[in-house]
Amino acid sequence: MTRLASLFLLTALLLPAQDPRFTNLMKDLLIFDAHIDTPRYFADENYRLRDRHNYYELDIPRMREGKLGAVMFGLYAQPQDFPPERWLPRALETLEALHAEVEANPNDMEFAYTAADVERIHKSGKLAALASLEGGHLIADSLGVLRLFYRLGIRYMTLAHFASNNFADSMTGQPIHTGISPFGRELIREMNRLGMIIDVSHISDKAVLDAVEHSRAPVIASHSSAKAIAPIIRNMPDNVIQTIAKRGGVICLNFHAGYLDKAAYDVFFRNRPARDAEIKAVTDVKPVDWEKVRAIQRKYFEKMPKVDVSVLVRHLDHLAKTAGVDHVGLGSDFDGISGMAPVGMEDVSKYPTIVKGLMKLGYSDQDIRKIMGLNLLRVLRQNEEVSKQQ
Ligand SMILES: [Zn+2]
Repeated sequence: MTRLASLFLLTALLLPAQDPRFTNLMKDLLIFDAHIDTPRYFADENYRLRDRHNYYELDIPRMREGKLGAVMFGLYAQPQDFPPERWLPRALETLEALHAEVEANPNDMEFAYTAADVERIHKSGKLAALASLEGGHLIADSLGVLRLFYRLGIRYMTLAHFASNNFADSMTGQPIHTGISPFGRELIREMNRLGMIIDVSHISDKAVLDAVEHSRAPVIASHSSAKAIAPIIRNMPDNVIQTIAKRGGVICLNFHAGYLDKAAYDVFFRNRPARDAEIKAVTDVKPVDWEKVRAIQRKYFEKMPKVDVSVLVRHLDHLAKTAGVDHVGLGSDFDGISGMAPVGMEDVSKYPTIVKGLMKLGYSDQDIRKIMGLNLLRVLRQNEEVSKQQ
């Protein structure tokens, strides 16, 4: 690159940061991410949020850089990775690890239980940490366990994960109920009564439509991308997106490079068996050498075509045009995507790039505030209100 070209690039990179509109907007913007999976690292790898890392996607220094304000942390035990008797203990252990990590960093984080908590904690300059469960299989088919999870801070639950369960069909599992089962409808009633948001990511299209029909409160898709742009199984078609939106719900965009771009997904999908076998060979040896696991993940990620952050912004724009700007949010799936993030959106320090991208597309400040966090906050509050009415 010539000196002139590099000077030009440098100016282009610096200019938006000096844009007074951008600076002003960033001052008090609430960035609220609906799905980040870091807690298992606290539990398994002694990953500490106060330290800066050159791997994984969230820690306090990078969260500060990216002006992240609130996170719904995801707790999970993939049904295919753990025997059934480990599902509930695993959910509890990672929830305990999350609470402990928040308590260990009182100057930077605080646990939030309500929408009002999120606003107060954000105003105080700390990160509001919330918790969620990824998969109905984690409550051992017990509504009593669900109620206890609500007390412990769980504010949404994904009805099913990668496999169908007694409540709902998964998008990636064998359909067994043609949507939501009668027990699933009972679960939805109880979640509405508690004020726990129903999350429809991962479940089959029919299950989403059933959930929206039976829920008295707006639902979320906590980490889903648009099928119209990237036609892969985990993404949502426009008619499903519109049905969620019509009942006040929010679709929070998944940042996984393979979910944003079909060509990237195809390479990911083709290599997955080989990748998973290599990872299994490493994780079978205890104590696990996690750096070796990350090296395998990096090796396979490098085989995928690069996906630029502009594709991510294009998905947001599509969601806003399809569902309405009141029904779009962020659900990065950071620390759940094994490092497969788009170029320019490598970790939580990069959220301001999305703000710039939306500004470039002509979105107003108020619309950007909604997409970056206020829509999700509104749904949390509406679920609290529906609960109070019962
Ligand atoms: Zn997921």
